[in-house]
Amino acid sequence: MSKKVNWKNKNEVNAWRRQYRRDNSERFKKQAKDYHENNKEKRKDIWSNSMFDGKKYDVLERDNWQCQECEMSQEKSIVLFNRELSVHHIDEKGVNVSTKEKNNNMDNLITMCMRCHKILHMRLAQKERFGDLLEQDDSEYRYPRIREVLNEKKKKLGTITKAKHELAKEMGMSYWTMDHMHYERKEGFLTEVEKRKRRNLNKEGSE
Ligand SMILES: [Zn+2]
Ligand SMILES: [Zn+2]
Repeated sequence: MSKKVNWKNKNEVNAWRRQYRRDNSERFKKQAKDYHENNKEKRKDIWSNSMFDGKKYDVLERDNWQCQECEMSQEKSIVLFNRELSVHHIDEKGVNVSTKEKNNNMDNLITMCMRCHKILHMRLAQKERFGDLLEQDDSEYRYPRIREVLNEKKKKLGTITKAKHELAKEMGMSYWTMDHMHYERKEGFLTEVEKRKRRNLNKEGSE
């Protein structure tokens, strides 16, 4: 900027400041990025220390820096997920429990990759929400307990449709999800129609 700035004039100062930022935008961008990166590290440290009494890396070390479910390495985890391997509380009291109540003994901690950890917690949440309704038996159906409950409800309500509506509401899911759960068969027990449907889907997928 060649023009001399009158430092007492607010508008002129602001204009100069804007121009200065524009002229040095690369430097400002880098500064912002560095700040973000540095604080990310700091935040991560505080977080992992509070979560596991600072034992996170001891657990990873003991477990050979590998997910104990699928053997993914720390390097691969960082490349794939942009995340370090995580640590799971075996007693399942790692989430929704206050820091004080957590059992951070080494034998209660285990190394998991992000994907396996997420899947595990999804299953745990499902189990908690639906309880024995997801239990399996050796019949052809994927959700035998749900079929039983639907039949009990049908006796009370008159039709299977009404029963599905009621159970869907109780389980916080849509009618169509419930309908699907009612009929879904295990792999190997598919009806001819379902087998054909699946074959067609596979064909479409491979084209
Ligand atoms: Zn894994
Ligand atoms: Zn966990």
